[in-house]
Amino acid sequence: MLAHPRSPPDPTLARLMELSQNLWWSWDPQATELFASLDRHRWEALDHNPVALLQELGELPAGIKDRVDAVYERFRSYLHEPDTWARRSRPELGRVVYMSMEFGLHESLRIYSGGLGVLAGDHLRSASDLGLDFVAVGLFYKHGYFRQIIDLGQQVAAWPTVRPERLPLEEVQIGGRPLRVLVPHGERQYLARVWRLQVGRVPLYLLDADLPENTPEDRAVTGSLYGGDASMRIRQEVLLGVGGFRALRALDLPPEVLHLNEGHCAFAPLEWLRQRVETGCDFRVSELHVQQATVFTTHTPVPAGHDRFGWDLVDGALGRWRDRMGWSQGMIMDRGRRDPSNLRSALNMTRLAMGMSRSTNGVSALHGQVSRDMFNNPAIGHVTNGVHPAWTSSEVRGLLDRVQPDWIDRATEGQALDALEACPTQSLVEAREPSRQRLRALIEQRLGVKVPAEALIAGFARRFAPYKRADLLLSDAERLGRLLDAGLYVVFAGKAHPHDEAGKALVARVLEACRDPRTRGRVLFLSGYDIAMGRLLTQGVDLWINNPRRPREASGTSGQKVLLNGGLNASVLDGWWPESYAGDNGWAIGEPREYGSIAEQDAADADSLYAVLEDVLQTWGTERWWQMVRRSMAVGFPAFNTHRMVADYARDVYAR
Ligand SMILES: *Cc1c(COP(=O)(O)O)cnc(C)c1O
Repeated sequence: MLAHPRSPPDPTLARLMELSQNLWWSWDPQATELFASLDRHRWEALDHNPVALLQELGELPAGIKDRVDAVYERFRSYLHEPDTWARRSRPELGRVVYMSMEFGLHESLRIYSGGLGVLAGDHLRSASDLGLDFVAVGLFYKHGYFRQIIDLGQQVAAWPTVRPERLPLEEVQIGGRPLRVLVPHGERQYLARVWRLQVGRVPLYLLDADLPENTPEDRAVTGSLYGGDASMRIRQEVLLGVGGFRALRALDLPPEVLHLNEGHCAFAPLEWLRQRVETGCDFRVSELHVQQATVFTTHTPVPAGHDRFGWDLVDGALGRWRDRMGWSQGMIMDRGRRDPSNLRSALNMTRLAMGMSRSTNGVSALHGQVSRDMFNNPAIGHVTNGVHPAWTSSEVRGLLDRVQPDWIDRATEGQALDALEACPTQSLVEAREPSRQRLRALIEQRLGVKVPAEALIAGFARRFAPYKRADLLLSDAERLGRLLDAGLYVVFAGKAHPHDEAGKALVARVLEACRDPRTRGRVLFLSGYDIAMGRLLTQGVDLWINNPRRPREASGTSGQKVLLNGGLNASVLDGWWPESYAGDNGWAIGEPREYGSIAEQDAADADSLYAVLEDVLQTWGTERWWQMVRRSMAVGFPAFNTHRMVADYARDVYAR
């Protein structure tokens, strides 16, 4: 430990500690570099976690005070900036409460699994940057989401324990006593505590059932993210929705707008309704009030991806909660059934969320269309996803600062970065080179493979769900072999859900290709995909390959991170890509049409994927390549970042 508890606190250390307690540091390049420079070795070993680093640091490096002071001044002025985008552009907007089952904010906070969580994290960071009155609610999981280990050619899941005292978490107190929220479960209630995590100007409240007062079963409710069966899932969703909304009341943070990020949190508007009725308001009037204040974003274009709970599970979890209000059995079920007259049909959380909201939106134009058809609801709109500008490497950011100094304002307003069109190729090459080098160093360190500097590195990293077809590129060994001989390297990364046998078989299939003498050393797999690896990959690859079975990908965001860094996309025209692809800014795989069978679709898309990669290799390193990079960044950056996305939500969804 650094300071003796009785010695007067060193002001520089005190400032560092304060900085470490707000995740703002993680998207400020100088603050990040400041922490890393304290002890680079430990920084890497500790998952880039400054709270843990400061706890074990021997002493501060000499002469660091001025740098700490400079970062600290910027941090304070960020927190207290009066002239924010929201004050200027949306002064009438009140408090928005955002709920989500997962938040992907930083690699050291393992309370996310993949795209949904990273999107939620980026939404918070942009809401903070734009200055919205914003509060977020989620769950704190003791074992987070699993860490992937590869053993004997297979994925193995490890569930390390997350220690709150090593994270920037503060237990919420009210009137000097720790807040305890009562959470219904069947005939009983149990307790949850609430952690506060500060994300710039935005507080994120995380409920946690791991308290000694609770039974072991109750404590296990926040054991792991997406870990258990349906009965565990509904308990988590009751904790998030009902418990989360009770926490808001205890904290005196009533929403003006309640934003449900995916159907997991759809019990929240029911609890809001219950609270209003309990204080004497009329049921119908209260329900209208709640519906008028709730908005819902759906992320799942496949019916099987929506949570469904049978009658027994719903009544087991919320029966008493409902009985005490004198509400009938259909009160919850009917709000989430496709056909309320069919008493055997299950509660669909997406339908419940839709029914309790004034608006529903998908996350890309195509996904909006798919959702309108799936739910037979012409009112569903869309707000296309984006990624936070912090996904850009510091070198590319430096280039933007020089070439287009107003790039952040333009990105927020969706205006093209015109000045990039005149940016010399050499500047682009130089801005990209350090990230390419960092990725090559990681590959060498982890796999012992030296990738030549002139090679084209393609990335494929994502959840290993079967519809994403990680094996499509491996389907024709001959054609793949020719591409590899022409200088292609392919880096795979990604995790399959521990219960997804087909997904795990796909991981094994890619690992097999990594060992195959025909592809070994050029088809590579990096285990343990997480936010840190996602950052290295999307900043460092030259090409991003995305080949889901259209139209299964609601949006996808990794390709957007690649575009922000001057890499190019080769993608099926699914999710966000049809809104970006213009022929001169990347490649389209396959055709935007429907097929009679999956086999037919896979064969056609594989053929197209190989043809695209043949063209990619022809283009690599030519002036045409760099012209595509300029187009891709100039038009794509302003369209697919979360500043623009949150501004769209503020204007089209949150405002009445
Ligand atoms: C960006 C990101 C995702 C999103 O992946 P998509 O397949 O593009 O939706 C998932 N996981 C991590 C770690 C990410 O950084």
